[in-house]
Amino acid sequence: MSFEAYPIGVGPQFEGERVRAKEMYVELGGPKIDKKFELCEVKPAKSIKDGTVKIVGPDLSELKEGGSYPIGVYLEISGSQLETDLEAVIERRFHDFSNFIQGFMHLNQRYTNWFRISKKSYAKGLNSFTIVGEILMKLFKAEYNIIEKAQITFFTDKKQVNTNFDHAMEVYTKRDERVRGLKDEDVKEFYACTLCASFAPKHACAIAPNRMSLCGAINWFDARAAAKVDPKGPIFRIEKGQVLNEKAGEYSGINEMIKNSSLGEIDRVYMYSGLEYPHTSCGCFEAIAYYIPEVEGYGVVDRDFKGNAVNGLPFSTMANSTGGGNQVEGFNGISIEYMRSPRFFQYDGGWDRFVWLPSGVKERIIDFIPAEIRDKIATEADVTEIGDLRGFLKDKNHPVMKRWEEEESEDEEESEEYVQAQPLGVSTQMPYQMAQQNYTPQGAPPGSQSFILPGIVIPAPSTSSGPGFKIIFKNVKINAESVTIKKIKPKKDK
Ligand code: SF4
Repeated sequence: MSFEAYPIGVGPQFEGERVRAKEMYVELGGPKIDKKFELCEVKPAKSIKDGTVKIVGPDLSELKEGGSYPIGVYLEISGSQLETDLEAVIERRFHDFSNFIQGFMHLNQRYTNWFRISKKSYAKGLNSFTIVGEILMKLFKAEYNIIEKAQITFFTDKKQVNTNFDHAMEVYTKRDERVRGLKDEDVKEFYACTLCASFAPKHACAIAPNRMSLCGAINWFDARAAAKVDPKGPIFRIEKGQVLNEKAGEYSGINEMIKNSSLGEIDRVYMYSGLEYPHTSCGCFEAIAYYIPEVEGYGVVDRDFKGNAVNGLPFSTMANSTGGGNQVEGFNGISIEYMRSPRFFQYDGGWDRFVWLPSGVKERIIDFIPAEIRDKIATEADVTEIGDLRGFLKDKNHPVMKRWEEEESEDEEESEEYVQAQPLGVSTQMPYQMAQQNYTPQGAPPGSQSFILPGIVIPAPSTSSGPGFKIIFKNVKINAESVTIKKIKPKKDK
């Protein structure tokens, strides 16, 4: 396969390229555009004119530099061995194949797709969707030799994008609905996807009937179809293995898969928890579930949400903490479809733990939120500041409050014990409770108080009178690459 006829380079070496705002000639789709899509459908051979690229609306050369424009990309394919189950997986390859084009950046998928063309590549001659379409069709056919015929349409006319967007949404919904009747226990195997490894090397998606991939593009049926046509490809079957913790969604087969995919860095995943051994996140997630320690609940923010979420952070800032293929407790990349799963965050308490959603997301999944909690979950129309959230939840009698009651009664008990055990004015250690204390601090400076975390000493000034203070860490995990302990020598008087 040769791409020499084209004015720009094509190949996986360009895949990690970013086109920043100041380097872009134009962008299409993305957060500034309401309706955009990319779709692949299998069609009868007779309806496809192989190799055709159609452009409905202005071509790249007719777009004004610096602008953001609507886009719809529609790939139609045919082949005697092609099944409709493969559509989603082939469609997802828009991501890596578009990124193979020098100076062409592709982000996201389905109805959140976002392209940027760099000024440099435009100047070199990447000035028509015909070039993009031809390259894409070559790459699709090379990867899937069961595609016998292909044609591609680029919609840039706003009206046409909107009309075809509705059709695309119907197709996505049908795909998603298919898997909703299936449960994890109904199947013998799960699947894994490593398509995003070029962006997030440690990341692999575990795909189960009750956990849609975090990009929201590949469900269990789609993954099964992909693994069938290419068992050694980036989407492959994994044995479930032993069920280690059903509620958490921990399976020995998934642990083994993530250990191999992350080259030993990660060896345990709870599919249905955001705080304990959470699933890794690449960067393609449709939304982020973020933990809000102030109320011991979760919020969600999606890509389309403009402004700050209730924790004061916008999607983009949280995405930086969430992505990259790490296991980040309290920041989890998720798909919207996973929010419709009966196992959504079930290990952490499920919907009883969710306290804030963007109204757009709430509207989309309202039928899947248990009826008794729907109006107890705030949106940006109810609460915009974290300081007001607790009051809202109290007014609504949100089930997350049970956790506060438990916490308060524990606090009271601990506080009493502490007061009884420690007479005022006696220098002591702070009462930090840990199941295991495998470190005893040595050399705490004389005349100081300390409280102990395993491996960490935090000195606090001594008090000779008064009630002192108490610091309680809840649900905190501290990772330190190294800890240095130095004996502090009292300063000599000059
Ligand atoms: S997000 Fe997951 S399922 Fe989607 S393409 Fe990336 S690795 Fe595959």
